[in-house]
Amino acid sequence: MTGARVGSALTDEQVAVRDLVREFAAEEVRPTAAEADETEAFPEDVWDGLAELGLTGLTVPEEYGGFGADETTYAVANEALAHGSLAVATALSVHCLATSCIAEFGTEPQREAWLPEMAETGRPVGMFCLSEPQAGSNPAQMATTATYDPETDEYVLNGEKQWITNGERGGVAVVFAKAAREGGDGRSAEADDAITQFLVPADTDGFEVGKKEEKLGLRASDTTGITFDDCRIPAENRLTEEGKGLSAAFRTLTEGRIGIAAQAVGVAQAALDEAKSYATEREQFDRPIGDIQTIRHKLAEMSTDVSAARLLVREACRQAEAGEDYRVAASKAKYRASEAAMSVTNEAVQIHGGYGYTTEFDVERLYRDAKITEIYEGTTEIQKTIIARGVLGE
Ligand SMILES: Cc1cc2nc3c(=O)[nH]c(=O)nc-3n(C[C@H](O)[C@H](O)[C@H](O)COP(=O)(O)OP(=O)(O)OC[C@H]3O[C@@H](n4cnc5c(N)ncnc54)[C@H](O)[C@@H]3O)c2cc1C
Repeated sequence: MTGARVGSALTDEQVAVRDLVREFAAEEVRPTAAEADETEAFPEDVWDGLAELGLTGLTVPEEYGGFGADETTYAVANEALAHGSLAVATALSVHCLATSCIAEFGTEPQREAWLPEMAETGRPVGMFCLSEPQAGSNPAQMATTATYDPETDEYVLNGEKQWITNGERGGVAVVFAKAAREGGDGRSAEADDAITQFLVPADTDGFEVGKKEEKLGLRASDTTGITFDDCRIPAENRLTEEGKGLSAAFRTLTEGRIGIAAQAVGVAQAALDEAKSYATEREQFDRPIGDIQTIRHKLAEMSTDVSAARLLVREACRQAEAGEDYRVAASKAKYRASEAAMSVTNEAVQIHGGYGYTTEFDVERLYRDAKITEIYEGTTEIQKTIIARGVLGE
């Protein structure tokens, strides 16, 4: 993507995308967020709107009908969307994880079969099935297997995935499972290095969607378990070579982490905006609370946290676009941005006093939503492990 840099950071095109998504988030997404949270119903109209804007093809290359966004564009779009609703932004980023896997690891026929529709209409909605009940921070511990059947040239999937975003709405899943061909290279189907990536349509026999999780926040986003019960897929649905799935997952998740960090910045910015307007409106002791030094200092600290987190996101994008190893930078951005989301939403509730503790004000939802950014796509502890390895040059 080309274009003149505006100020020190964004190109004209990146500014245009950011402003477009900001407007959509303010007009179409934010007004639906409270009801969607309360009813735990994903706003499908909003999804269709995202598709119309081309955002469901954000990371799909242009030759397959997508936007072909660079990392910075992806980040600014995610920040702007999460300002309207983290649940919607999360659904989109998981859809993008799925399209990225197909674009990066798929064969030409797989790309042609899936990407144009997923980019242009947002359907089928994508899922990314890595986590399992006993395998979260350590996905290598997964138990799902894919057994090759030479008679039918199919893989038979068996196992259970957990915490799958878009689990109910999703139409196609990128699934990680341990695979080994009998008489192949001698690798056992239980070995960590057997992890392989597959593309599984949700209407395949044996693809069973579990019950929707009841969550603290992100309630409009459907999170479910998915069970594979003798789920047969053609061998041509394999995305990576056998045994190459885990490194592919880590690569995709590193890219995804920048998006989650940007979303955390969006949530923090939304909370800061709410706190700022409340501080100018609410009066106590015959003056706006925004005139009280303690509240002013809170706003100063919140604003600094948001700016610092945004800069870390930009730096991770810069490194990725320059072709550098940006794993540590992506982890720093995710760690600090999710921490900012937590502290800024907490202070925004505090500035609202008792009103902030009620569903009448958005800060209550933002506070509940923010917590997930410290957990999914690698917990804060895992980000620190990655950063420490970078510090120690390991
Ligand atoms: C709402 C939601 C949506 C999600 N969406 C998806 C999805 O679409 N697809 C998907 O595959 N997954 C998804 N996840 C799963 C998510 O990525 C995992 O929950 C996360 O990776 C943590 O795994 P876990 O929950 O098993 O926790 P655990 O790994 O059991 O961790 C428990 C605690 O131990 C700590 N810990 C674990 N290992 C270490 C270590 N080595 N060093 C230090 N601390 C450690 C953790 O940081 C954490 O504090 C989602 C989760 C949620 C809640």
